This record gives sequence, C-alpha cells and structure tokens, in this order.
Amino acid sequence: MKLHEKALKLLKNHPLCDYCLGRQFSNLATGTTNLNRGITIKDFLVLEFSSNLSEENVSVLQCLSRSGSALAKKLLLKNEIQSEETMECYVCEESLETIDALTELVISQSEGYEFHTFLMGTFIPKAIQERETELKALVDVKQTELLKQEFNRNIGKKISGRIPVKTDFKSPDIVFEVNPFTQNISKRITSLYIHGKYRKFLRILPQTRWPCRKCKGKGCKECNNTGKKYPESVEELIETEVIRLAKADKGTLHGGGREDIDALMLGTGRPFVFEIVNPHIRSLDLNDLEERINIHVQDKIEVQNLRWSSRKEVVHVKSSAERAIKKYRALVEFSNPITDENMKKIENGFQNKVLQQRTPNRVSHRRADKIREKKVYTVECIRKGEAKIEIVVECDGGCYVKELISGDKGRTKPSISEIVMNPAICTELDVIEIDEIPYIQED
Ligand SMILES: [Zn+2]
Ligand SMILES: [Zn+2]
Repeated sequence: MKLHEKALKLLKNHPLCDYCLGRQFSNLATGTTNLNRGITIKDFLVLEFSSNLSEENVSVLQCLSRSGSALAKKLLLKNEIQSEETMECYVCEESLETIDALTELVISQSEGYEFHTFLMGTFIPKAIQERETELKALVDVKQTELLKQEFNRNIGKKISGRIPVKTDFKSPDIVFEVNPFTQNISKRITSLYIHGKYRKFLRILPQTRWPCRKCKGKGCKECNNTGKKYPESVEELIETEVIRLAKADKGTLHGGGREDIDALMLGTGRPFVFEIVNPHIRSLDLNDLEERINIHVQDKIEVQNLRWSSRKEVVHVKSSAERAIKKYRALVEFSNPITDENMKKIENGFQNKVLQQRTPNRVSHRRADKIREKKVYTVECIRKGEAKIEIVVECDGGCYVKELISGDKGRTKPSISEIVMNPAICTELDVIEIDEIPYIQED
C-alpha cells in the first residue's frame, strides 16, 4: 500500500488531527515534525482528489474536512458544497492541544525544587492505547511513535525552552507524569545519596531509628509517648542538619553492616550511604555539611569524608560489609582466674580458625536461624586483672564476637570459654577497624 492509500484508509475510518495522522508516518523522513507530516499529507490528498469533483472525490474531501483540513474546506466552499464539520480526533481527543497548558502546570508543580535534569512521562488511558493499536493494525504500520511519546517529547522540549533544565533518561533529578485527559500531574523527586564514614563514641546508641516495640512508633506509656525505644540514633543525629540544609523530608542511613548498640565504632569509621528523601535543595556543599553535622552531634558521633554517591553504591556498601575484614577490641571477664598459659592457648587456638556460628539467641528474633562459617585471623590477649583480659580480634565481617567469647551455650564452636574451660563473657566491645572494599563505578 502506498503512503497516500494508507493515509486515506486511516482517515476514512476515523477523524484524525494533524499530529495523530503524521505520527503514523513518523518513521519516514527525519527533520520534520509529526504536525508538519500530518499537514503535508492532508494537503497532498486534497490536491490529488480535486482534479474533478466526482462523487467519490467529494467524499474523500469531506473525509479530510472532518479531520480539520482547511484546504479541503476552502475547496468545497469554492464549489458551493457544504463541508462537513471538524470532528474530535479519534486518538488524542484533541488533548494534544493542551501541551502548552500541561507544560505550565508541570513548571508550576516543580516550583520550590532545585533540579537540573528531568524525565517526562505520560499516562495514556487503556481505551486510548487500544485505539492506537487498532489504527496501526488497520494499515499495518510498525515502529512509529506512540501518543505518549508525542506528549513526552513536546512537553519536554517546551520545559527545556522555558527553564534551564535538561532531559535525562538515566538519572533524572525529577520524574514528572502527566495525564493529558485529566490534567493531573504527579512528580517523583529522586533521592540524593552521600557516602561517608562514621565513628560512634557513645555506648548506647543504635545505628538507625528504633521504634518502640509495644506501640510501633505511635507513642505509649512505655516509651513516654516518644514512639521510640531509644531517643536517638546515628541516623537521626546525621539527619537533622541534612534535612535543614536540603529542605528534605527524611534521611535514611544505609550502613555497611552495624555494630551492636552498646559497641563503640572507632578507628577509621564505618562506611555508610546517607539517602536524602525528597530534597528541595540539591547543590549542597559537602564540606560545609560535614562540619555542621559534626558541630550538631557534639561528641556523640563524627562523620568524615563525605562525597556524592548513588543508589547503586547503597547495594555495594551493604553487600560488601559481610566480606570486609574487621578488627574488634573486647573486654573479657572469666568466672575463674586466667593463667598466662591459657592466654597463649587462646592466641594460638584462634590463628586462622574457622568458627561455626549458629544465629545467637539475642538476635534470633530478627535473623534467620542458621549456621554461619566465619574465620578468625588473629586474637591478641592483654591482661587487665586476675580474671579479666582485653582482646583484639581480627575476623570476617558478620562474625559474632560476643559469642566467640561466651560460646553462646554451644551455639558457637569453638569459643574462648570452651578452649580454656573457663566460662567467659564480653563486658565491652568496640569496633576499631573496618577494611572497606572499594566501590568501582560501572557505567
Ligand atoms: Zn489527535
Ligand atoms: Zn511506645
């Protein structure tokens, strides 16, 4: 079928506006618009069928008149034939005429948000999508644009022309979605991600928010109506300044593993990615932010080496935590005095030793019950009293150090208690070093 035959078949079936007719041929000739394609095709058909005004030719001209062709209307009028009225476009229902209005709506919705890149999306109701499919099947056209692309491209172009922002398909700052049939606009603000390391100097401080278990955050007698089991966390301490400077809703800390609530985090700190949810300001000075956070948190924690990060790095930081080798300092208290000989026995017994650790009782409510194999590389013992020593342990990430000491009633094997046959408990535990696995950005 030739182009003009296809166009005619389409127009005989349904009235189509210039955009929607032109779009069916969007695979032909680049460097023009669908609007121009539609006008050109309609004009060509008028010329083609105006050589004589046979009944058949007049019916074609009426068809074009129904689809809004000014040239067809003029020609019919000149020959004193009443032209048929323009009908609503079968596909877009004239919604393409609202592109300017939609553009203004999108721009007004984005007010108050700093953004440099965006992506346009359009919601097309199912019934309209089905009409598009029907049209394409009618003349067997493939690989041409869809109505939603027409909207996305046109509105996107107009926005870039009005304000200094660019379309970005990969990682836009904002994603807009318009519904041209209801004029409804929705937007999704992309989170910001900041990588850094934190140190923690307070013995009772959870890494993230800890809601009251009884009321699940609503507030009850038990939690003094705070809704929290602990008044603050590393996450909340960092969040305060971040929210203030980015004018954001919320912050989420994605930690590379987590220390026990009562353990200090020392040395070079623990890697994390901080997610800023719904930020109004995106161009933050990270040096300034770091300084402000550290002033705000007093000496409870410290953040360092803040830099921009991404959603993908969150996955890396979380998944690599298990593989990173860690160093701990622990205070160990025995039931009975410990001999120098036994201290040596501990040091020798845990050189490159693989432990079998069944999920400890104290965390079994939130972790699956299974046996994990973790390697201890070295244990160094320093005497602190008759029945008290300090140990420095280097081991795999995810190794339960408190249980390495106590044995957790036989759930961890071997254990310090077991090999010296002297029950021991951990009374203080600090993380002193985390060997971070570097993130290699893939593009
Ligand atoms: Zn249309
Ligand atoms: Zn409560």
